[in-house]
Amino acid sequence: MGRELTQVAPGVWMAQAETWTSLTTLVVADDGACLLVDPGITVAEVEELADEIHIRGWHVEAAFATHTHWDHVLWSARLGHVPRWATPTAAEAQVGSRDADLAKADATAPGHDRDLFGRLTALPDDAVAVPWSGPRALVVAHRAHAPGHAALVLPDSGVLVAGDMLSDVEIPLLDVDAADPAGDYHDGLHRLEAAVTRYAVTAVVPGHGHLGGPRELARRFVVDRVYLRALVTGQDAGDPRLAEPWLAQAHEGPLRAVRAVSPE
Ligand SMILES: [Zn+2]
Repeated sequence: MGRELTQVAPGVWMAQAETWTSLTTLVVADDGACLLVDPGITVAEVEELADEIHIRGWHVEAAFATHTHWDHVLWSARLGHVPRWATPTAAEAQVGSRDADLAKADATAPGHDRDLFGRLTALPDDAVAVPWSGPRALVVAHRAHAPGHAALVLPDSGVLVAGDMLSDVEIPLLDVDAADPAGDYHDGLHRLEAAVTRYAVTAVVPGHGHLGGPRELARRFVVDRVYLRALVTGQDAGDPRLAEPWLAQAHEGPLRAVRAVSPE
């Protein structure tokens, strides 16, 4: 049995996991080679993803982890022994946090292969694209959300694979360990928006939530900036995404971190 895939654009597919409406993206070349981004989440879901790839006669040539959080660095032996790229900053960060991340994976999605968990390969320092034979996947690196986070822009299909940014269901989740979490997030949004404009992106696949078209993509930039502004100025964000209890709780950490940087 496979797992339902939704076509995002020609040669781009996504699969939705039950946990946190997590989205995995597949970029598929004409010969069936795949670039797999952030496969997740449960063991069964990742196995079903492997089934679906095999059923369709595709094969995984390479993978990309948008960042090192545990739900983005999962793997199954059946997906193959291929490079799982990440930015150099992310790959380095992963080495230090691997054990803690593995414990989090075990708590929410137990049973993943421990040896394969989080085995990332650093992109070359000057890499502008993921090394693979299929459609170009340009790397937009920034510091928002997690060290070495990167989105991928697929210029041939006009798709932005955003990682844990630009979600319709999650507020901006800041890297509260950074020196300037809100500043990093602003900069991250700026970089993503510049890429959207430059490459005429018309669809966004977030790490969690739902596929968005051009109007929805524009709306997400607006609401995320409104949220950030409220965070920095200490006003009530009034963001409907905060109705979710775990997000309301997640909102408290940045509140303290941001006020430590911006006491106004
Ligand atoms: Zn994350």
